[in-house]
Formats: sequence, C-alpha cells, structure tokens
Amino acid sequence: MEIKAQLLDLKPYQPGKPIETVKRVFGLEKITKLASNENPFGCSEKAKQAILEELNSLALYPDGYSTDLRKAVAEHLNVDETQLIFGNGSDEVIQIICRALLGPGKNTVMPTPSFPQYKHNAVIEGAEVREVELVDGEHNLGEMLAAIDEQTQIVWICNPNNPTGTYIEKEKLFSFVSKVPKHVLVVLDEAYYEYVVASDYPETIGLLSEYENVVILRTFSKAYGLASLRIGYGIGSSKLIQQIEPAREPFNTTRVAQAAAKAAISDQEFIKECVSKNKKGLDQFYTFCEEHHLSYYKSQGNFILIDFKQQGDQVFQYLLERGFIVRSGNALGFPTSVRITVGTEEQNAEIIGHLTEMLQTTGK
Ligand SMILES: *Cc1c(COP(=O)(O)O)cnc(C)c1O
Repeated sequence: MEIKAQLLDLKPYQPGKPIETVKRVFGLEKITKLASNENPFGCSEKAKQAILEELNSLALYPDGYSTDLRKAVAEHLNVDETQLIFGNGSDEVIQIICRALLGPGKNTVMPTPSFPQYKHNAVIEGAEVREVELVDGEHNLGEMLAAIDEQTQIVWICNPNNPTGTYIEKEKLFSFVSKVPKHVLVVLDEAYYEYVVASDYPETIGLLSEYENVVILRTFSKAYGLASLRIGYGIGSSKLIQQIEPAREPFNTTRVAQAAAKAAISDQEFIKECVSKNKKGLDQFYTFCEEHHLSYYKSQGNFILIDFKQQGDQVFQYLLERGFIVRSGNALGFPTSVRITVGTEEQNAEIIGHLTEMLQTTGK
C-alpha cells in the first residue's frame, strides 16, 4: 500500500500535555489552562440541563439533519434552514469544504499566520496552498486577491484572525468580497464572532443574498463554551450548501451536542455576560503590556498575542512550572510571542503576576 505522498510531510495534531501529567511533574495542585481559547466561564446552565435530558436517548442515532438545532439557528440568524450545514466543530466544516472543492491541479489562498486547519486540509486534498503573509498582524487583502487565478477554488478569511485577534473592518471586507472572482469560494471564518465589540466589524450574513460564493463559519466551541461537544456550522446560499452536503458524514454531530447547542443559542444573556467580562479581561492584559512596554495586538477575540522579545517556548515553560498552560507563539508563526486565552478576572491577575515576576527576574 502507498500512503498519499502529501500525508508524509504532515504532523498529526500535537495535543498539549494532559493536566494530570503537568500536576504530577511539577508537584502542582492547581492547573489553569489558558491555551485553547475555551470559555473560562463554562457554558449556559440551559445547555447543561438540555444535556441531562438527552441521557435517556443515548442509544439512538442522532438526527442526521439536526432538525431542531437547524430551526433554532436559522431563527436566531434570520436565514433559511437550507442555508446551514452542521459539523463536528467548525473544523469539520473546513474539512467538508476542502473535500468538496479541492484536489490536485487546484489551489487555495489563505493568510499566514492564521488558523492551521485551512492549510492542513488543503494539503491532504492535494491542492496547492498559496499563503499570503499578514502585514502588522492583519490580512493583506490586496496580495490575497493578486494570488487568485483560474485554478483557485477557495480563499480563506479569518475574522477576527487567530492567533493575532485583529479584525477586518466592514468596508475593506465588503470591497474584497466584491472583487473576488465568482468561481472562487470565500470562506469567512468567524469563530470569535460573539466576542467582537468593534462597531465597524462586518455583519456578513447580508452578503449571502448577493454572493453565492460566500460561506460563513461559526462555532459553539468558543463563546458558547461547548468545545468538548464538537459542534459548529457553516452558513451559505442554499444552492452551495446543498452542493457540499454529500461530503458530510450522515451522523457527524451528536444528539447531546445538538441539544446543548440549541439550548445555548437560546441563552443570549449568558453570551452577553461573557463578552462583557472578556472585554474587562482584555483590559487587564492591555494595562500589563503597556506598563511593561510589551507589544501586542488589540484583540477582538478571547485571547491576546503578546511579544515578550524572548523565546515563546521559554515563556511557556516558565508559566507551565507555575501552573498555567498557554500557547507558545513558536508553533503559531510568532516565535517570540505567547498567545494567552483571557480567563476569569482572578486567573488573569494571577498569570499577570507571574509574568511581571518573570520580566523582573530576566531584567526586561
Ligand atoms: C477554534 C477555532 C475554530 C474551530 O473551532 P471548532 O471547535 O472546530 O468549532 C475554527 N476557526 C478558528 C479561527 C478557531 O480559532
């Protein structure tokens, strides 16, 4: 047998060290994970209740069409039910889109550094990947347009961008979309949509009635606090969604995830509270950065990328030994930075305390 050549160069996803191992190795009692942009406040109580109610139905396959959740999301977004596709996390929607559109001889354009799954899936499908460097942490939309040709199938936009937290304002994005040729699918990954507070951040659902070549990705993993259940979705024109549906596994989202997501979307009060606490949390980090003259990107997400002007891996290790798991910028394309998920006020204060001490002892 022969493994696809493009798989040989890909690394399987490297999960972080398990919390239990970290505790044992460093003799710590408490570990705080601020590494994967999970919601530090958990999820809505309504979602927990909905999960309990599903426990008697675990023997049954889920509804492959996610009918109830579909209805709830369609209503919430004011789109037609046929405009939605659900995935095992929006990660899987990315995979479905790649399966449906990419192959040898085709190419796809994406920003870098950005969310790694666009490239990963494109490589598996054997497509050529055209990466366009960020400029000052932001998408270079002009260069991205210039990289598109007849063989381009997908252009990826991560808004707000992970790992920088920067965003593309409405006018720039709409102008970009209007210039992308019709044979190219524009994927707008809005995993952090709920957290955004910038008033000129684009509401993109309206684009869908004008452009058949746009898909928006959202998820229940971040602000909704349901990362473990793996559920996200794509929103597009009915026609496009029907065309990519065959690339989706029939029972790709679970009964528990569907029920929890449906309950979670009905609790916008919970989201509002989390967004307001996140904003205050970001302010804690901004103040810290300014006091210590560290450069960082203003973030519209629930994370912040800070440049410590020393190896990110070193900062990561320093924090790990003190019970905080963060993400080193080393693997994210920012070797002297660290990406920290905004935690609770107390968690933020604690990690800032450790970082302050670190800067004092290293003399920076
Ligand atoms: C977290 C994240 C996702 C994936 O989330 P799922 O858990 O798979 O829904 C997608 N895009 C970006 C930019 C993310 O940060």
